[in-house]
This record gives sequence, C-alpha cells and structure tokens, in this order.
Amino acid sequence: MAAAPALKHWRTTLERVEKFVSPLYFTDCNLRGRLFGDSCPVAELSSFLTPERLPYQEAVQQDFRPAQVGDSFGPTWWTCWFRVELTIPDAWVGQEVHLRWESDGEGLVWRDGEPVQGLTKEGEKTSYVLTDKLGEEDPRSLTLYVEVACNGLLGAGKGTMIAAPDPEKMFQVSRAELAVFHRDVHKLLVDLELLLGMAKGLGEDNQRSYQALYTANQMVNVCDPAQPETFPVAQALASKFFGQRGGESQHTIHALGHCHIDTAWLWPFKETVRKCARSWVTVVQLMERNPEFIFACSQAQQLAWVKSHYPGLHARLQEFACRGQFVPVGGTWVEMDGNLPSGEAMVRQFLQGQSFFLQEFGKMCSEFWLPDTFGYSAQLPQIMRSCGIRHFLTQKLSWNLVNSFPHHTFFWEGLDGSRVLAHFPPGDSYGMQGSVEEVLKTVAKNRDKGRTNHSAFLFGFGDGGGGPTQTMVDRLKRLCNTDGLPRVQLSSPERLFSALEGHSGQLCTWVGELFLELHNGTYTTHAQIKKANRECERILHDVELLSSLALARSAQFLYPAAQLQDLWRLLLLNQFHDVVTGSCIQLVAEEAMCHYEDIRSRGNKLLSTAAAALCAGEPGPEGLLIVNTLPWKRTEVLALPSPGGAHCLGLIPSSGDSAQHGLCSCSHPHLTAAPAAPAACVYSAGASADLASRPPPTKTDGSVTLDNGIIRVKLDPTGRLTSLVLVASGREAIAEGAVGNQFVLFDDVPLYWDAWDVMDYHLETRKPVLGQAGTLAVGTEGGMRGSAWFLLQISPNSRLSQKVVLDIGCPYVRFHTEVHWHEAHKFLKVEFPARVRSPQATFEVQFGHLQRPTHYNTSWDWARFEVWAHRWMDLSEHGFGLALLNDCKYGASVRGSVLSLSLLRAPKSPDATVDMGRHEFTYALMPHEGSFQDAGVIPAAYSLNFPLLALPAPGPAPAAAWSAFSVSSPAVVLETVKQAETSLQGRKLVLRLYEAHGSHVDCWLRTSLPVQEAVLCDLLERRDPAGPLPLRNNRLKLTFSPFQVQSLLLVLQPAPS
Ligand SMILES: [Zn+2]
Repeated sequence: MAAAPALKHWRTTLERVEKFVSPLYFTDCNLRGRLFGDSCPVAELSSFLTPERLPYQEAVQQDFRPAQVGDSFGPTWWTCWFRVELTIPDAWVGQEVHLRWESDGEGLVWRDGEPVQGLTKEGEKTSYVLTDKLGEEDPRSLTLYVEVACNGLLGAGKGTMIAAPDPEKMFQVSRAELAVFHRDVHKLLVDLELLLGMAKGLGEDNQRSYQALYTANQMVNVCDPAQPETFPVAQALASKFFGQRGGESQHTIHALGHCHIDTAWLWPFKETVRKCARSWVTVVQLMERNPEFIFACSQAQQLAWVKSHYPGLHARLQEFACRGQFVPVGGTWVEMDGNLPSGEAMVRQFLQGQSFFLQEFGKMCSEFWLPDTFGYSAQLPQIMRSCGIRHFLTQKLSWNLVNSFPHHTFFWEGLDGSRVLAHFPPGDSYGMQGSVEEVLKTVAKNRDKGRTNHSAFLFGFGDGGGGPTQTMVDRLKRLCNTDGLPRVQLSSPERLFSALEGHSGQLCTWVGELFLELHNGTYTTHAQIKKANRECERILHDVELLSSLALARSAQFLYPAAQLQDLWRLLLLNQFHDVVTGSCIQLVAEEAMCHYEDIRSRGNKLLSTAAAALCAGEPGPEGLLIVNTLPWKRTEVLALPSPGGAHCLGLIPSSGDSAQHGLCSCSHPHLTAAPAAPAACVYSAGASADLASRPPPTKTDGSVTLDNGIIRVKLDPTGRLTSLVLVASGREAIAEGAVGNQFVLFDDVPLYWDAWDVMDYHLETRKPVLGQAGTLAVGTEGGMRGSAWFLLQISPNSRLSQKVVLDIGCPYVRFHTEVHWHEAHKFLKVEFPARVRSPQATFEVQFGHLQRPTHYNTSWDWARFEVWAHRWMDLSEHGFGLALLNDCKYGASVRGSVLSLSLLRAPKSPDATVDMGRHEFTYALMPHEGSFQDAGVIPAAYSLNFPLLALPAPGPAPAAAWSAFSVSSPAVVLETVKQAETSLQGRKLVLRLYEAHGSHVDCWLRTSLPVQEAVLCDLLERRDPAGPLPLRNNRLKLTFSPFQVQSLLLVLQPAPS
C-alpha cells in the first residue's frame, strides 16, 4: 500500500474523520451511509387506535385498518397498535436482517404474543433484529405487532419538557421497512467514534490524543465504504490501538447498565407499567447477546407491575437474576422522596421492598439506590443499616446550586451515629452513553481519586426509561483497558462497593443530612397531596395499633394483614420522588388523590372493624369508644357528636395510665357539654369551678385576648398576634415591636424547574399581607374553647379565613386556616418573630430532630434558606423557646429570630392547575419554658397530628378504661404497634420505639397485654440473635442512645378459646 502523506493539520484531520462517520453529512459516500444495505418495505401494515391501554390478547383481536408510512395517529395518551406483516427476500440469506421502525411515541414490539423489544427514536432504538444471520431454512414471513404509546420518553409537554402536557399532540410513523444490517460497519463506527473522543478529550498536549487521531485518519485512508473487503485492515488498526494497555495504577470504572424510570412524573402511573416492559425487555435482549453485561434495576413496585402484566418477561428477569446479570437494587418499594415521608413510612419502603426482592429474586438488596431524589434525611443511615444495607448510591447532590459536595466516596454518618459507605458516580449522571468524554469526566471529577481508584458509571437512557443500547455496551467493552484512559469494566454494584470498601481506611466522613441545594419548593408544592400523605400515615398508624389491640384482646379477630399491606404499598407508591413532592403532571396528581381516598375510606373501615372487636364481649354501656393512639396521657377538648348531627365539646381526661395508648369508654354521646357560655370564654384545665376565675373575654379596640391560664394570646383587629405570654412566668414570646401570624407573599419565579424550585432571590420580594381592621370576631363555642375568627384578602383573587382556637388545658394556640388560592407564581408563608435569640433552630425529621443555622454566615448556611421539617420546629435560647407545629406542612425556615412556615405555592409547570382552589390546614404555636424536650413540644406536635378518636361503638363499649402500653421515659416514643410480618394471623406483635430527645436513656416498657416472650428485632423484623429480653411483671427494660430506633417482637400468649 502506498504510504499516505502524513499531514499535520489537527483540525482538518479531526473533522475529516468526523465527516466519515457523520449521520448528517456525506452519507452518500461515508461509512455511516453504509450501515444498512438493501431494504424493502414491509409486506402489509395495518393499525388500530384506542384511548385505552389494552392487554396484547385483547388488542390483537380488534379491527385493524390498512395503514401506511406517513400516517398520523393520536392524540396524547392514546395507543396505536400496528400489525406488521413481513416477507424477507430470499436474496438476504446469510445476512443480518432488521426491521427498521421510526415513529413518534414509544413503541413495543410483540412477537408470538410476547414483548421482545422497545422502539423509541429518543432512546436510540429504531431497529429490531429479526435475525443475526438469515438461514436457508428460516421462515421468510412473519407477523409482528408494534404497540405505540402516544407520548414521548419524557411525556408530552407543550413546548418545553416540563410544560403541562399538550392533550392534542399527534404522532407519526415515518419508517417501517426491512433492511440488511452491516455489523462490520457498525463496529468500525464505534471504533472511530471512540478514537475521535480520545483525540478531543485528551487534548492537544497529550501524546495519546495524537495517536488516536492518526489511527483514525489512517483507518479512513484504508477503508473504502463501498468495498467491505477493506474493512478488516481498518479494524486491525483499531484493534492494535485499543490493545495497547494502560498502566497498573489506572483508575477503574465500573460500568453498570441502568434505566431510571420515574414511577409517575410527566406521564401517568399506568404508562410507567408499559415503560418498564419496553425498557426491560430490551435489557433482556442485551443480556442475552452480551453475557458480561450487568443491569441494575431498582423499585420493587415496578417489578411487581411487570410480574402481573407481563409474567413471561418477569420469568426471564428472574432467570437473568440467577445468572447475576439482572441485579435488583435499592431495597425499597419505590425510589421515594428522601425528606417528606415519615420515619415509619421509610421503614416500610424497605420492609415491603426487601421482602418482595427476597420472594421474587431469592435475595435482598445490599445497597440503597436513590440516584434522583431531592435530598436525604439524616436518619437514613440508621434505617438502612437496620434493613440489612451498608451501601448507598446517588448522584443528585451534583445538582447543588451553591456548594459543590466535597466527596464522591465517603462514609455517611446519620443522626444516631450509624455509618454507611456512600458513592456518588462522579460523572454526575445516571444516564451515561459510554462516550470517552464521560469516561474521562468520571475520573477528572472524582474528588476521592488517589484514596480509592474506583468509580461507578451508570449508563442507559433514563427518567422516562429506555435503558442501555447495544452501541453503549460495544463502546464500553472496547475501552476495557487501553492506554490513556481508565480501565472500564462491565461491573455489578457488589463488585463496585467491595472495591470501594477495600480502600475505606482513607475515606472521609460526612455527618448529618445530605441536603440538596435545589428543589426546595417541593416541600410545599401540591399541598393537597402532602396533606393526604400526612393523614394517611396517621390512619395506617391508628389502624395498625387498634387492630393489634383487637388481636391481643379477641380470639375471633383476624388481623387485616393483606389489606394493610395493600394500603401501605399504595401510600409508599405515592411517596415516589415526583409524586409526594408535587412535581408531577395533573393526571398523576388526580390519580394520587384517588389513591389517598382509597386509603382513607378503606382505612377508616378497618378502624371501625377493630373498634367493634374491642367492644365485643365486654359489659358496659353503649356509646362511643374514645381511643388515644399515642403513648402518653392526654387531656383534651374533643368535639363529640350530639343528637341532631351537631357537635358538642367534651373534655376527655386521662388519669393514671388509663388513656395511654389505650381506650376509655364514653357512655354519653357528649361528655361535659358546656352550657351556652359567652363566646370566646375559655376555662382553665381543671374543675369547672374555675369558670369564674378566668378573665372574661376581652375585646377592646377591636382586638381580642384569649387566655386559658397557661398561655395568653392577643390578636390585633386584623388577626395578627401582638402578644403571646406564658401566664405563669409572664414571659412574652413575640419579638418586641413585631407581630406574629403575619402572612407574607413572595414572587416565586424560579430559573427553570417551576414546581421544584424556589430561588434565594424570592426573599427579596417579601410583601406582608395587610388585613382590614374590624374583621376580627369572637367565636361562639362556649365553655372549654375560646376562639376568634377573621377574614383576610390576600390579593384581588385569593382570600383566607382563620379561626384562632385556644382550649382549656392546652399549651398551644391553634390556627385553623382556610385559603381560597388563585395565584400565579406567588408563595404564601406565615411568620412569627420570636423574642428568642439563637444561632440555630431545631426541626423535626424522621425519628428525631436536627439543628440548622438561623444565619447566613457561609454559603452552606444561606443555601439552606428554605428547609424541610415534619410536625414541628423550635427556636430556643436558654430557658425559653417558641415552637411552631403543623398538621400537614413541610416547608419552613428560621432566619434570625423569625420562624416561618411555608403554606402555598403557585407554579404552573408541569401541572398548570396545581394548588389552585380551596385549602385547609392547621398550625399551632407553643411558647415554653426550659428546653423543648422538657416542655413537651414533641408530644404536643403528636397530639395535633393524632387527634383522639371517637369511634361509634356498635356494641357495648368496655366499661373500664384500660391502657395497653406505657413507657417510663418521656424521651422514648412508642411510634408503631403492628402485627409481625412473619407470622400472618399469628399472635406476634412488633413495637417500634425511638429516642426522641437526643439522649442516652434507660426506660421501662409496661404492657397489659398477655406477652409470652419479648425479643429485639431489626427493622425487617428479624430476631436479635442475643435472644429474649427478661420480662418481669409485664415490664421490660430498654436502653437507648440518642435517636436510636428499636423494634421489639412480642409473642402473645395463645388466645383464650
Ligand atoms: Zn427520577
């Protein structure tokens, strides 16, 4: 061969190679243009259009009409089924033959009644391999079906991706033909693209970059696209280059096939079921063709869907799981939000997830996998460890807007001191394509290289599914070990983490929450979803407790284990990271609300059933069953049904242990119904003799004072709080010269992610909402409850009314709020300036609380201008503090001495209607002496969220009050009582307790239930090998460290027959 002149011009050489592989330019003569050879149209094409998502068997029996390439179909969310009849020309014997299919939407190919491959242009899957090599005897004719969903990989946003879906979108089929595929051309294209990537990525000061460029140039010289016999020479040049090995010290990249499928987001839940099939059936094909290819798959719920809708595919996935190629990861039911779910709900994510993985795939997951979730609670390490998981993977903190996270491989230490090994794939993505650029970025960005020379590399189209392609796998295989680049292994999560563990001695530790400095609007967006989530967490808690008590007390009672599993799974599903966060389209939000309604109605039925079981067989008067589902004594004013459908107020006392986590009977429909006393009259806790000793309701200058002997509340004529005093000490809680209960409105226009983001600059647009004097009126309840009521016009379109309520005996004042909200890009909050000075405030999180700064000293501090909390937050100085409680809110902030609760947002994408309309919520304010722990802020927040239950007792209610459990230390909360999973219909209970004050403490748990044996267990309810705990006089001793969660398995004595 004649030696070509070796020209030295970098740019022309590089671009020459680029043109040789270009899909756009010179395809008449370049290599790309030869990827496919001869082609012919399909023999016959017909279609059937439906608004429903039909099963295959039903769809293929419909009336198919003739169709042709170029036809349009739709609209959005419909499905077009195509029948494709093929006849492969005889002349193609010996060749690789593909069906080339290009259409809008997401396609799934069915062959002989089974799904075989996904087809999406966006996911770079536009051809289906009919045969690798057409044999003489192979059938030439066959019929396929292509099921095309009328939505893109990322939904159907009108204009931009996250805009609300366009319901009128139409779709088109633009190619349907048979073609000969040239595998040798494909291989050369892969090599040339990688060489180009190295030439560009390694740069002009790197020798290997030039070697890559000249190798590519030489390949173009020797390769004539029209003469396949020239290909082997070019191939040999590439092989020689890629065969030049790197040194022993090279970084190792663990390439893991992955496909992030949002369980619902810009498309409805039902479409996700099909996304899973389309993505995973393609993965099965890749696993068959590439035995070294490993795919990591998360979210038990999605696998459960595939199991029920596509049993054949599920069986194949199980088969590949046995071979170690299909690796279930994550351990959870869905990839839930990492901030908003309660501690117990997080436990259930693992409990339901791990048991599903064990049942279907023979083992539990050993890593928690949450690549796309918006921040991670400081309590997760403990929950993970107690669910058999020591490793954690995400990449989301690379989205931080302000600070760049300092580690990629590190120990993450949780609230209680539990540690897990965490890894963030340094390429900052879970949807890599296998390019040289990404491989180089993975090493360059890795902030722990030198300490540990391993990184994860997740490849495959994600978010809307799609997953890896053969081309990606080919690229990564080619880069297994070549000089100039890190080594690339097709690897598994297990291999990755054991390699990382090998060097763990050098790793740094991050303590506390992994806060995402972005998406802080998701704590507030879609208030109805968040309220329903909180309510359903409460209902399931109460159902489990009552059913457990019924199980213990009644031989006939059947614990509703299967129903509770259903309801829990439904709740967990909606805690997915684009549902409970409110970052979904309207269609999803509507489905979520139906799910919550389902949990509510079925849950309440289960409550009644358990209540009935508790009443049966006990002598006593008929009436109401009053149930305290919290583990401490409560004395509260309760609205009780009275004849005629009205409600009367009753004071529900509890003395001794009687109402601790137990029941007391209520023989009259209304207990101590107060006489029609003057409005806004509030009586102190205690005997009614005090009635006269309370100051009369005062209304002077249009302002109102409420006083229950514990706190005194003064509202100005517009409903703002001018004073809040602890009566015993006279201590004022409101900052001097300031007012509380001040509603404020902000402009709320983020940079892009509308439903997700509230930006720091919104704080610069603060506008107090000013009311009109004279709207304040005193309430009409008498006796035990004082209240005032006012109306506030927020804007020309939105208004708010509020009832400020103070009950006798209650240490906090409640603000029952109703808002009619019709805004665009506004943010409503309520502020309470406190007469308290502290550099940090405390926020409740799962099974505990943590502190965050009240100042903006550093960038890490001000990046937390909007944070999340659960039921309470508190600002305390020595000896005094002010706590703000809520019944369904999550967004919050404390800056300086101002406590602020985030109430409502008005983003327009991806749901244009989100949060418009009527809202109801309650928050409460509790001033206290001493620390919030000693003052009882935590039980107060529980009380606000778990009202006493007044259940109609169908039969005789128990005559005497009784209590099932009590705990000797106020630091320990008995959070959950349920039947043990492992003993369906057996008489075993699981109790979950946690230390809530942040202290080392010993405590005694006392129970009145007939307990035979007590043993500690983990969160998956596996017995502690140390064996049973000593149980004496129905008491057992437990020892806690700060924020420790402990679970206890109680074996009950056999039921009396
Ligand atoms: Zn996601």
